[in-house]
Amino acid sequence: MADLVLKNAKMVTPFGVREGGIAIENEKIVAIGTDNSLPPAPEVIDCRGMVMLPGVFDPHVHLGGRTPYEENIVTETTSAAAGGVTSFLQYLRSADPEYKVVKERIDFASKLSLIDTSFHFIISGLEQAKDIENFSKKFEIATFKFYMGGYSEGNPIGIVTADDGVLYAGMERIRNVGPYNFCMVHAEDNALVEMFTEEIKHSGRNDLQAYTDSRPDFVEEQDILRAIWMAELLGCPLYIPHVTIGAAIDAALAANHRGARIILETCPHYLGLTTDHPAFEGDRAGIGKVSPPLRDKVNQDRLWDGLAKGYISTVGSDHVPIEKSGGALWEERPGFAGMATILPVMLTEGYLKGRIGLETIAAVTALNPAKLFGYYPQKGSIEIGSDGDIVLCDLQKEQVVGPLSTHSRFTSAFEGQTLKGWPILTIRRGEIIFREGEVLALPGSGRILARNGS
Ligand SMILES: [Zn+2]
Repeated sequence: MADLVLKNAKMVTPFGVREGGIAIENEKIVAIGTDNSLPPAPEVIDCRGMVMLPGVFDPHVHLGGRTPYEENIVTETTSAAAGGVTSFLQYLRSADPEYKVVKERIDFASKLSLIDTSFHFIISGLEQAKDIENFSKKFEIATFKFYMGGYSEGNPIGIVTADDGVLYAGMERIRNVGPYNFCMVHAEDNALVEMFTEEIKHSGRNDLQAYTDSRPDFVEEQDILRAIWMAELLGCPLYIPHVTIGAAIDAALAANHRGARIILETCPHYLGLTTDHPAFEGDRAGIGKVSPPLRDKVNQDRLWDGLAKGYISTVGSDHVPIEKSGGALWEERPGFAGMATILPVMLTEGYLKGRIGLETIAAVTALNPAKLFGYYPQKGSIEIGSDGDIVLCDLQKEQVVGPLSTHSRFTSAFEGQTLKGWPILTIRRGEIIFREGEVLALPGSGRILARNGS
């Protein structure tokens, strides 16, 4: 006797897409097979032929920037559950040498998160870079992000740019804190961004293309090339989040052929939107503001091709919970809330447009991030022994992106747009946490995940 059985689904497993169902017992998947091969259970759900994917493992989330963290961890994991996200990795930052914010947030997350979670850490300065081995032992975190640029001094978010010295000191240590260790870089060169921004602001332009022109493709490429060069020099694994340009794929492929370990991530907004999208016309330009910026169709096509061919390994939301008006382009904050729309964007723009298959969606949204960061086979896959983390999607369901569909009051990049293919049921470790438009999980029912071997 199992606890829960799901039947009559189109299951996306690492071994292909199969008709049938699964049984979950004590939080784990205990059987996969044809409907009549499954054990009995007190609750049996008929999936009516809907697509069953592994619960999304979102590798890229920022919480607590504007709203208190203890509030965000509840509201945004509620939104995540509605989007079929069952695990996520969040970036922490702490300016003080005692890392007080880190302790505080891990504590809040364990008490309040609705879904399972773990952490990356953002390095603010040389002192922290030199303390990476100590920090890694203390908090069991092996992934460290550096802002190579893009956020000038005095930025309201409080991000500290890492120069080559900081990056070098960081990589020298990150290479020793494995397994599943990565240096991560926000790749946008400060000097170039500052110069172009000054020029373009002065010209009086206020359209979204003006913002993109203030941080052009080659500004990102320059830092990616510099980060790859240093990663090869020091033998440090490198994970490049939120890649927007085709040139990143070329650079990573060439380096990996030389024996480097370079992993690329992109985000749904770069896959589903371009700078010239009509949604960002006029006084709505600031809605589309994000860093790195939205690009053109040529780059977007290369990102889809990169996903299809396996050159881009993961898709992360880069979720930033902020409310945006769209006006005052240069003052508007970059970023948007994105966890709830990862799957709808991948299904609408990827699968239903024939750009990628369901297996690729399962790989880049769940299996690959879980593997890379050390949570597979517990997470990321529909297979026997894995956690019962499941999302059921209705490929016919159309919804407008907004608070009703995303269960978040924060602005989405896709605000007001209709997407097709939405989660209708989310299961986290065998517990139904989202059903019929309602989030059912309780705050604190999510867990802090331990990396394999830690
Ligand atoms: Zn970033």
